[in-house]
Amino acid sequence: MNTSTIEACIVGAGPGGVATALKLSYLGIPSLLIDKAAFPRDKVCGDAISGKVTTLLNRLDPAILERFNARPIQSDVWGIRFVSPDNKNLNIPFKPNYVREATSAPGYVAKRLDFDDFLIGEVKRRANIEFWEGVEVSTYQKQPNGWAVGTKDGRTIHCRMLIAADGAYSAFSRKQAGLAKDPKHYAAAVRAYYKGVAGLDKDNFIELHFIKAITPGYFWIFPLPDGQANVGLGMRSDIMAKRGFNLREELDKLLREHPVLSARFSQAELIGKVKGFGLPLGSKRRSISGDHYMLVGDAGHLVDPLTGEGIGNAFYSGFIAAEQLQQCIMAEDYSAAFLKAYDKRVDRVLGSEMRLSYRLQKMLMYPAIVNLIASIIAGNQKVIEVLSGMYNDFSLREQLARPAFWLKMFLKKKQ
Ligand SMILES: Cc1cc2nc3c(=O)[nH]c(=O)nc-3n(C[C@H](O)[C@H](O)[C@H](O)COP(=O)(O)OP(=O)(O)OC[C@H]3O[C@@H](n4cnc5c(N)ncnc54)[C@H](O)[C@@H]3O)c2cc1C
Repeated sequence: MNTSTIEACIVGAGPGGVATALKLSYLGIPSLLIDKAAFPRDKVCGDAISGKVTTLLNRLDPAILERFNARPIQSDVWGIRFVSPDNKNLNIPFKPNYVREATSAPGYVAKRLDFDDFLIGEVKRRANIEFWEGVEVSTYQKQPNGWAVGTKDGRTIHCRMLIAADGAYSAFSRKQAGLAKDPKHYAAAVRAYYKGVAGLDKDNFIELHFIKAITPGYFWIFPLPDGQANVGLGMRSDIMAKRGFNLREELDKLLREHPVLSARFSQAELIGKVKGFGLPLGSKRRSISGDHYMLVGDAGHLVDPLTGEGIGNAFYSGFIAAEQLQQCIMAEDYSAAFLKAYDKRVDRVLGSEMRLSYRLQKMLMYPAIVNLIASIIAGNQKVIEVLSGMYNDFSLREQLARPAFWLKMFLKKKQ
């Protein structure tokens, strides 16, 4: 590839950058993808992969999903267990009356070390993606027709379109695009790997524990293959600061002192270290494009404000960015005004889900409400079935944030 002036330079080869590069590749548009890490590399994450990701991979090329299913890196997930502040367990399957079949699971858990490396394998199959790994981008300079991107090892790339997919700590997003960190719309979380956690679900239901001391954040246990589990704790940054909350200390305390969790972890063994990382939440609308650039994934603050899910949203934004670049090439227009179409489409696809999640996140501030809702659900099999259907039906999910929905369910329970 002649790197003197190229069409697309993508900085960051996490899910967002890879999704952009793969989608461009299938559209016949070559790109240069750069990551400072050498793969396989770890990324601090809960490792839960939602159906959004597998749906998009399948849409791109069913062979990719077949290759994913053929690798023993993931556990197949069939539902979710919510644990309320008063310790009620609610098991909600992702599909009503499901029959377990590993290759068509509604969700998966795979260590990012393995999953991202799988994605890099897909990148390496594509002749029109040039991939530089172990190369850190250190400078960006605006040019009349694009950007000059400088690397720490002294190379300069001139590109017409810059796609910043360099994650939560994206320098481009902060300095060039001006997206400041807002603690009300930002979270921090810690993650640990454990072996031998007792009481994991036989169908790999992921567990979200809403514990009074940590709401509106939550503690999670996500089952991995080989009897391991991804365990962690996350909370909104402004609330952490207000309470003087230390995530590592709180995690340690929970696993030692919580009446239920301490028993489940009494024989469990920590693998490696407890690690932390930031989550730029999508609960505030921001501008994610400008003259000759687009922000993808965490660089564009697109993490779900309730669940902390960001891989699927990174994928969606990457696909949309690739299609937008195709439009730019056809129209020969890379201006900020033309690129507003990217922001609009991302908002159309992800916006209502983000806003719903934000409303639900705010509800979690009140443990008494969470307990009430949990008791309504636990006592009503019909509601559990409705909630199962919600995983695949967004219009149903929207009802969750409506007090009228819960009032109706409460009255039904009383009858
Ligand atoms: C503790 C925790 C738990 C989470 N749990 C989940 C979960 O269970 N499910 C889920 O869907 N999401 C989860 N998330 C969110 C998820 O991790 C992110 O949303 C997702 O990784 C975003 O992908 P990305 O491609 O935008 O960024 P990243 O995955 O962060 O990738 C960015 C890439 O850019 C590279 N890079 C950075 N700077 C440079 C540079 N200067 N030059 C070159 N390369 C650079 C990095 O090396 C990295 O490979 C969690 C996040 C945290 C912190």
